[in-house]
Amino acid sequence: ERMISAEAQGMEDTLDQSIRPNNLKQYIGQEKVKSNLHVFMEAARMREECLDHVLLYGPPGLGKTTLSSIIANEMGVQMRTTSGPAIERPGDLAAILTALEPGDVLFIDEIHRLNRMVEEVLYPAMEDFCLDIVIGKGPTARSVRLDLPPFTLVGATTRAGMLSAPLRDRFGVLARLEYYTESELAIIIKRTAEIFETEIDEKAAVEIARRSRGTPRIANRLLRRVRDFAQVKGDGIITLELAQNSLEQLQVDRLGLDHIDHKLLFGMIEKYRGGPVGIETISATIGEEPDTIEDVYEPYLLQIGFIQRTPRGRIVTPACYQHFNMEVPGP
Ligand code: ATP
Repeated sequence: ERMISAEAQGMEDTLDQSIRPNNLKQYIGQEKVKSNLHVFMEAARMREECLDHVLLYGPPGLGKTTLSSIIANEMGVQMRTTSGPAIERPGDLAAILTALEPGDVLFIDEIHRLNRMVEEVLYPAMEDFCLDIVIGKGPTARSVRLDLPPFTLVGATTRAGMLSAPLRDRFGVLARLEYYTESELAIIIKRTAEIFETEIDEKAAVEIARRSRGTPRIANRLLRRVRDFAQVKGDGIITLELAQNSLEQLQVDRLGLDHIDHKLLFGMIEKYRGGPVGIETISATIGEEPDTIEDVYEPYLLQIGFIQRTPRGRIVTPACYQHFNMEVPGP
């Protein structure tokens, strides 16, 4: 398992509801998204309508599920959760939709993975709150229209570009979540430490934040592991030194890069003089699938400006050479 993976891992990540913010005030960062959502929710409440459908997109672990449950809380309704790959047939979606209570939030994670047939059932449901169901087969088949309770669909995706245009167009609110700043992550870490009743120094919180790849899920996971070290190797208090030593032990460097990032970057530097090199070639060099590289490893390296995409392939930037105290090769 990758310590700094932004995907949910194991029981701790998925079950730990205690650290999940419950309302917009507790939700740190993403100021623009929050202030817009606040207005839209307030307006919907004043009109006694449900909120328009919301599409949340951005890298994994940035708080899409959390934000969706906050929307449900603030609107005073239930959230039903499912995901694109879990809804295999139109009938599966019909069952979910007909079980909704008026005003409910339906959260569909990985919405870009819905298949076309299911998507087509979703269109009239989103637009007119109704279902068109075909009963019977062959010449006797007929279509029946069923009314649904009004609901808010919250779709989450890491890849907005992979959503079909008709589906994307049916969302009234599009919100892009951004990587968090170091100081926002430090606030999240201190908040989580408080819930865990663990004492943490300000500098230690900043140190963990710096190595969390802009991602709250990683920040909380690193905090848990550092807390383990503090308990066993120290007196339970997370100091800067303890945080640094523990993170060293976890092989997370001072920018949050781990052995896989190192393998990728050194592969490009040593074998291809820093590029340009194609994604397929990188994939063959380090033995990881191209999709995994593009979805999991690359976004953060692009974000911190260690690699760049060019029409001829990926290149390693001078900032990356500097981080590893290496000389930038000449032309
Ligand atoms: P995925 O896209 O992989 O489903 P996600 O973006 O939905 O991930 P969440 O599961 O909502 O991510 O959040 C991951 C963890 O980070 C949660 O445990 C939550 O407590 C914490 N978290 C996320 N966003 C915030 C935030 N803005 N403030 C405080 N904590 C947050």
